[in-house]
Amino acid sequence: MIPFKNWKRRTKIIATLGPATESGEKIFSLIEKGVDVFRFNMSHGNPNWVREKVGLIQEFSKRLGKYVGMLLDTQGPAIRTGDLPDPMQLKPGDSFTFTVRGEKTDDLHSVSVNYDDIVNDIHVGDVILVDNGNIQMRVIAKEKNILRCEVLTAGVMKSRRHINIPGVRINLPPLTQKDLRDIQLGIECGMDFFALSFVREANDCDLLRQILISKGSHGKVVAKIEDQLAVKNLSQIIDSADAIMIARGDLGIECPFEELPIIQRRIVKSCIQKRKPVIVATHLLESMIMNPAPTRAEITDIANAVYEQADCVMLSGETASGKYPLECIQILDRVAVRTEKSGGAGYASLVELFDDEEKLAKTAVHLADDVGAPAICVFTRFGHLSTLIAGLRPRYSLIYAFCPDEDVCRKLTLHYGVEPCLVVFPKNQEESIELVESYLKKKGIESGQKIVLISEVPLRGERDRYILLHQIH
Ligand code: PGA
Ligand code: MN
Repeated sequence: MIPFKNWKRRTKIIATLGPATESGEKIFSLIEKGVDVFRFNMSHGNPNWVREKVGLIQEFSKRLGKYVGMLLDTQGPAIRTGDLPDPMQLKPGDSFTFTVRGEKTDDLHSVSVNYDDIVNDIHVGDVILVDNGNIQMRVIAKEKNILRCEVLTAGVMKSRRHINIPGVRINLPPLTQKDLRDIQLGIECGMDFFALSFVREANDCDLLRQILISKGSHGKVVAKIEDQLAVKNLSQIIDSADAIMIARGDLGIECPFEELPIIQRRIVKSCIQKRKPVIVATHLLESMIMNPAPTRAEITDIANAVYEQADCVMLSGETASGKYPLECIQILDRVAVRTEKSGGAGYASLVELFDDEEKLAKTAVHLADDVGAPAICVFTRFGHLSTLIAGLRPRYSLIYAFCPDEDVCRKLTLHYGVEPCLVVFPKNQEESIELVESYLKKKGIESGQKIVLISEVPLRGERDRYILLHQIH
C-alpha cells in the first residue's frame, strides 16, 4: 500500500515578513497555511519592529501547536547607494555620478555610495548594475572620490539601492557594524538561524559561528551563495556552514544568468551529498507580488526545486510586500505536495555513510521505503538522528522527531520532511510504541499501516539502538 493519502508537504517553506504580512492576523494565517520558518530581512526593518513580530510568532506558534523557526538575514557587505530626496528618471545616454567619502557635486544626477573603495576596485569601461540589474551604467571616468558613468538602460533611481559589480572582490568586512548589531538583536530575540549575505569563504561562516557561540546562542549559520567567489569556494563553504541558501537574486546578476540553473543544481546536489540543508530562494513566485495567479514558468521552477529535493523554498517580496502572500503559500504547498508524490531526483543516493549511526539511519530508510511506511519515528535528544534520516530522503515517509527540547524542535524546521514533536522521553519500549501510535493516529495515520521506529534500549549501561517495524492497531 503506497501511502499517498493525507500526504503532508516535505519541502519546507520560508516566508519573509514585511509590510504586507506584519499584522498579527496575517502572521497567524501564514503559520496556519504552512509557513515553517519566518525570515527577517535586515536590509529593511528596525529593531522594535523585529522584536514585536518575534513576539507574535512565538505566541501563535504556541497557540497553533506548530514549531516555527526564525531566520535573521543580515545585510552583509553589500554596496548601497545613499538617500535621494526624490526618485530620478534616467534614460540611456544620461550622465550619472557616484560619490564617496562625503564628496559633493553639482551634477544633475548623482548619489553617494557606502563603499569608498568602489573608485579603486572598478575600472573605466566596467559596467555597474544598480537595483537588481535594472539600471546599467558604464564607467567613463574616475576621480579620487567620484565615479562618472553613462546610463545604458532606462530606469528610475531610488534611495538605498543595491549595487552589483560582477566578478569584483569587495573589500568590505564579512560582517559590517550594522550586521553585528543585527546579530546581537537576533540573539536577544532567540532567532534559530542567522544568514550570512555575500559569504566569500569558509572563514566567514566560522567567524559568525564564533560570535554566536561566544554570546551563548545555539543559532545555526546559513551561508548565502550569491556571487562568483562563493561559487568558487562552494565546497569549503558547505563544509563550514550549517545550511546553504541559493540566493538566486544576486547570483543571477553576479554570474552570467545561463549559468544559474547549473549552479543551482550543483549546489543542491553537493548539499544533499554532504547532508547540509539547502534553501532555494528568490523569484519563485515573483509575478504574484502583483498578480493573483502564478505563471506556468514559476510553477515549473517550484516543481524543479522540489524535484531536486531541496530542503526549503523561500519567498521574499512575495510575502514581504506582495498583494497575495497567503495565496503564495497555498500554491507552494500544492505544487510541492504533487511533485513530492511523483518522486525526486534521488541525489541522496550520493550520500557517503561513515559512522554506525549513519548506517543505521540508512537501514531504517531502506526498510521504510520497501514497506511503504508513511512515517519514520525517531526519539532524538539533539535532533541528529532525525536529520540523518531526512538527509537520506525517504521515498514515502515523513520523519517524526520526538524530542524533549523545544530549541532543538525549532532547529528541525529547516530540514526536509522532519516534523518536530515535543515529548518527555518514554521510560521503556512499550511506552515509546504507545506514544508513537497515539501521536500518529492523531496525525491521520490509519490502522493497518506500517511504520518504522528507531529508539534506544539501555543495555548494560550503554545505549543500543533498535529499528522496529510496527503495524498501527
Ligand atoms: P536578498 O538575498 O534577498 O537578501 O538579496 C537573496 C538573493 O539575493 O536572492
Ligand atoms: Mn541577495
